[in-house]
Amino acid sequence: MKITIIGQWGAYPEKGEASTCYLLQTENYNILIDCGSGALASVQKYISLDDIDAILISHYHWDHIADIFPYQYNTAISFNTGKRKKPLEIYGHKKDDMFLKLNYNEYCISKEIDEKTILNFDSLKVSFNWCKHPAPSLAMKFQENGKSFVFSGDTEYCEGIVEISKNADIFLCECSFYDEDFGKLKGHLTAGEVGEISNKNNVKNLVLTHFPHYGEINMLKEQVSNKFKGNIEMASKGKVFEL
Ligand SMILES: [Zn+2]
Ligand SMILES: [Zn+2]
Repeated sequence: MKITIIGQWGAYPEKGEASTCYLLQTENYNILIDCGSGALASVQKYISLDDIDAILISHYHWDHIADIFPYQYNTAISFNTGKRKKPLEIYGHKKDDMFLKLNYNEYCISKEIDEKTILNFDSLKVSFNWCKHPAPSLAMKFQENGKSFVFSGDTEYCEGIVEISKNADIFLCECSFYDEDFGKLKGHLTAGEVGEISNKNNVKNLVLTHFPHYGEINMLKEQVSNKFKGNIEMASKGKVFEL
């Protein structure tokens, strides 16, 4: 599987960039993970919107879903001009009425996911864990050919994120707060906590994402490295990871 970073910002995108969105590609499938603001404009540098098969949504905060709604218009136009051949599948949980808005005529089909769901896209298997966040949020694990890629969604320190990221070959983890924020801000992970989880879980490659808009974000990597000695990368637009 190949993962391309489309957007790596929490809350809102910085100039010319996007908030949370990642493109995951296998031999036969193109899947978007979250679709925050700026994602639609950015993802088209790498793939046509008509070629995306499915979107998997971690939770219903705007920095993860804002561009779903203009995407629905795109699917309608593409269907009616013969460019899109099959509906866009949009997977999200049902703990919020926002689920009802994912469906859009025959162009976008909503599908429920929760901690019991296993999705199979050919040999790619996807499973989920609830995490702890002000809005219910799912972390996701993608497995193919004996390798695993885990995406945290948004979460604070909890059993769900610790459990799902065990032995991940690539762990794409939100890193929204600096160590100095520990105990003051809630709902997200501090750099030290990301390092602690990754170290305990024997993560092979850690990719930091969902960055804050204050401080010097390269400090996050430094603070994580105090707790985790493996490979650490900062997500940035267009960066590619392969497993
Ligand atoms: Zn977020
Ligand atoms: Zn959130």
